[in-house]
Amino acid sequence: MKTLLERARSGESLADLEIVDMHGHFGRYLHAIPDLTAEGLVRVMDRLGVRSILVSHMQCMSQHTHRGNEEVLTAMHAFPGRILGYAVVWPVDGDTRAEMEWCAAHGFTGLKLHSSNGFAYTDPVYAGALSVANERRMPVLLHAWGAASDFAAIRELAAKYPEASFLFAHSGTGGAEAECIRLAREVPNAYLDLAYSQGPRGLVERLVAGAGAEKVLFGSDCYFFSMTQQIGKVLGADLSDGEKRKILSENALRILERVQR
Ligand SMILES: [Zn+2]
Repeated sequence: MKTLLERARSGESLADLEIVDMHGHFGRYLHAIPDLTAEGLVRVMDRLGVRSILVSHMQCMSQHTHRGNEEVLTAMHAFPGRILGYAVVWPVDGDTRAEMEWCAAHGFTGLKLHSSNGFAYTDPVYAGALSVANERRMPVLLHAWGAASDFAAIRELAAKYPEASFLFAHSGTGGAEAECIRLAREVPNAYLDLAYSQGPRGLVERLVAGAGAEKVLFGSDCYFFSMTQQIGKVLGADLSDGEKRKILSENALRILERVQR
């Protein structure tokens, strides 16, 4: 029987794996992206055999979060089950619960927060949105780049909202590999997201060896990063096919099954 890497190398679709990409994006940003459409996103997923991608809108970094959520909703409706939504909220509005409730009622799957707006993840303004995520047992993706404050925030929130699953984005960046492993080992509802434009040799293997394959999740950052390159880091890693299946599919499916819609 062929290994997953052999199958990928021969250009075979891995659709039978039910791969879920837990870190995707949607919408225009500052730099050129060749294809901004939902169709383009699904086309690359089809080539690889990726079942679903969770996307947040790039307006997570601006006050136009609601418009962003509406665009994501349109994509969710165009490709049901393939494109899933992370809600984004704007903290300056002062109440993040209302937007989060709107998103949850419209079938969004999770919540994505980005610190580029200057608000700490632990700021009380996010309590409304995080409470809804906790009530609905959703995944919460936190943008991070290995800063000590990111680790402190995710530890505090994971304890305060124990029903939500917290994903620490871009694991291994900022020289914080060991701290990522400690986080995943010590916090039951914290997971390590692999989206990273670089592919430091052995990073995926070291995260798995330290944290366990159950705590590592495939995320591509597509369409910022190439999904083919990002999935290649997992498929080409020196891991067993069983471990790769956990990272690409099983861990994510377990998190998504918990979500109350
Ligand atoms: Zn991202």
